[in-house]
Amino acid sequence: MKKMKDRIYFSMGYACNNNCLHCAVDCERRTKNMSTQEVIAFFERYRNYKNIEMEISGGEPTIRPDLLYLIEYLYTQINIPYILLSNGRRFSDLNFVSKLAEFPPQSIMVALHGHNAELHDKISQRKGSFNETVQGISNLYEYRLNVVIKVVLSKVNYRKMPEFVEFVAQTFPECEGITINGLDISGKALEDRDSLAYKLPDCIPYVQKAIDCANKYNLKIRIFSIPLCLFDESYREYVGLKNRTTIMCKSPEEESSSVSLFYGTADKCAPCIYKSNCSGTWYNYYKYYGTDELKPILKG
Ligand code: SF4
Repeated sequence: MKKMKDRIYFSMGYACNNNCLHCAVDCERRTKNMSTQEVIAFFERYRNYKNIEMEISGGEPTIRPDLLYLIEYLYTQINIPYILLSNGRRFSDLNFVSKLAEFPPQSIMVALHGHNAELHDKISQRKGSFNETVQGISNLYEYRLNVVIKVVLSKVNYRKMPEFVEFVAQTFPECEGITINGLDISGKALEDRDSLAYKLPDCIPYVQKAIDCANKYNLKIRIFSIPLCLFDESYREYVGLKNRTTIMCKSPEEESSSVSLFYGTADKCAPCIYKSNCSGTWYNYYKYYGTDELKPILKG
């Protein structure tokens, strides 16, 4: 089997044009951005690496005035394929999309929070952001760019996951896939924990219905940061496992050699047959809700 590329997770900065309720970055850090030269210097560290890819994140990377320059540099000078994470609003400008398409990312992960403007804008805390993001996704498809739609579950939206998948399937039939992600209770999400955080078993029926809906439309769907053992057996194949190495996590203020510092399994998982490749969930979740609900799987 072909080895998956190692991944570098790179947050160029925390500034953003949304103010999402569930953001893992707290308000204090929102203004921190790396300079153009700092970003180029970081790219240069990987000039001679083989079989790697870079996941470019934020904050919101597309609000940087130098983003297209940086992407061109990465694409033409360093030759590293990249994945772009975005709230999608900037892509509502077709001219911007046409320039991005000259140095196409392998994939663009666009965050969409709900199936309608009322729900999405309530979470993004920016009126009109749903319309811009939806227009942005359409524009990306016009340039035949690969888009994965990402939703983070909070108490505000998890009950609407079946409707969410229905909306995506009907609005974007060319969609490459959807990912449903458990909440990281940190940053701003931690500040507002009571109105956002939920016990993971509570969201499972809705996520399973969402998977059924995706299957009805033949739409790819993956679940991340929700332990596999919480799902009925027939849904476990949709839960993402640890199948790649992240060799660096870089943010404006720190870097670490592994994302496993932030999420993973628990001591209770020791006898589970999935222990070695299960992604578990965010450690902050275990901190606030414990591990009682984990049910080690003892046989296949
Ligand atoms: S018991 Fe632990 S290792 Fe097993 S599926 Fe659950 S979270 Fe993953």
